[in-house]
Amino acid sequence: DIKYLPGKEPHPSEHRLIFKNIDREGWDTSIDTYIADGGYEQLKKAITMEPSAITNEVKASGLRGRGGAGFPTGVKWGFIPPNNTKPVYLICNADESEPGTFKDRYILHQDPHQLIEGMVISAFAVGAKVAFIYIREEFPEAALTIERAIEEARAKSLVGKDILGSGFDLEIWVHRGAAAYICGEETGLIESLEGKRPYPRIKPPYFPAALGLYMAPTIVNNVESLCHVKHIIEMGGAEYAKLGVERNTGTRILCVSGDVKNPGYYEVQVGKVTMGELLNDICGGPKDGRSFKAVIPGGSSSKILRCEEVFKIGKGEDAKDLAFWDIQMDFDTLAACGTMAGSGGVIVLDDSRKMSWVLNNINHFYAHESCGQCTPCREGNGWMKKISDRIVNGLAAPEDIQTLEDVAYQIDGKTICAFGEASSWPVEAIISKFRDELTAETSEDNQRLSKEQLQREA
Ligand code: NAD
Ligand code: SF4
Repeated sequence: DIKYLPGKEPHPSEHRLIFKNIDREGWDTSIDTYIADGGYEQLKKAITMEPSAITNEVKASGLRGRGGAGFPTGVKWGFIPPNNTKPVYLICNADESEPGTFKDRYILHQDPHQLIEGMVISAFAVGAKVAFIYIREEFPEAALTIERAIEEARAKSLVGKDILGSGFDLEIWVHRGAAAYICGEETGLIESLEGKRPYPRIKPPYFPAALGLYMAPTIVNNVESLCHVKHIIEMGGAEYAKLGVERNTGTRILCVSGDVKNPGYYEVQVGKVTMGELLNDICGGPKDGRSFKAVIPGGSSSKILRCEEVFKIGKGEDAKDLAFWDIQMDFDTLAACGTMAGSGGVIVLDDSRKMSWVLNNINHFYAHESCGQCTPCREGNGWMKKISDRIVNGLAAPEDIQTLEDVAYQIDGKTICAFGEASSWPVEAIISKFRDELTAETSEDNQRLSKEQLQREA
């Protein structure tokens, strides 16, 4: 019986938990509206539970992090050292910057109390008395909305001292980022929060759950992940785990952008929708007169998939072929196809797109965003940008494609943080899957770029 704004109604294949209130008729961000809809009832329930029981429910739910890595949330919470004597911190990572991803922004803008409720429950579970929302600089309105919502919650004893008379205290601080993609990497974020340059730390040993903010145990969770906690308390972990498929439970928001008739956000049960259903049924198919060419399934860091690909899934006698259109949109199936579900940003490319343009676009982004701490990433991304600039400008020699691939492999796995892979995987995948198309844009008449030129010009 929920009414949505005209033209914003969910697709019948959606299953909305987190986005239930997004684009809802008569909805606003005030605490009164949220409470009238049953808001903060799960906090009231959770605060009477043992913290370990909440963690057990989250473990039972099978919830995997929605920021991109898909790491089990309850397991992460369980990594806080049992003999810890330091303060524990909770950080909500709201630095959503992965190209193609735009889900957390809607939660922050339209349903801030859902996030606050999820955070207070989570903080209570992990024993944090101080929590931070690290929000990207480009979300100034969202930062104001969430700050206002925290004050409303404080006025009703839902944040601050002695929450709901339980004796539990939680202060939530909103911290604005400085427009750097690397501040979304959890240890870069922590350095930034400490007032330093956001150079990521080496994991291990600096897994935040043990050694995080001020070298104290710190749980860093994505906005969407923290919102799920409220629903897990409401449904119970076992019931929540019935949504989705095995090892890939619950719902998740897919952000579809690019060359489809109906781009947008769609909350679906994890793994219950295939690539074909998503693109053709939910998103209305390709634009008129065009056909789908390729998809980047989990934000720009994920490896591109060609629409005509067939993947070998499973091992030994269980191995089977899986066509691109039959890929279930879940963490494990996409990983088995050599890519990842990542942050849920599905970028669709049709037959009008040149792969050199896609490659160049991605290379420019990562070259600009590298923090510069490690040489392969800092230099390599500049080199890759330089080579792809030459390809799109018709200045590349055929051998430059090989140089580009070599540079990508020299970055992959040789850097401090996952940015190295995030920047090299798209290049490796585009070259391996579209080598002929890229080579066709080069010419024997062009001079191959030498290493010296690359170093000089990057
Ligand atoms: P990761 O796999 O290194 O870690 C995932 C989480 O699990 C982290 O919180 C980490 O601390 C924890 N963890 C893993 N192993 C652990 C252990 N042994 N002990 C304690 N904790 C452990 O991945 P990551 O570098 O945090 O994230 C990479 C992902 O981020 C990419 O897949 C990409 O999709 C995504 N990403 C998302 C955005 C966005 O805007 N949402 C932006 C950039 C990247
Ligand atoms: Fe910085 Fe890149 Fe090294 Fe990550 S991989 S620490 S972004 S230079």
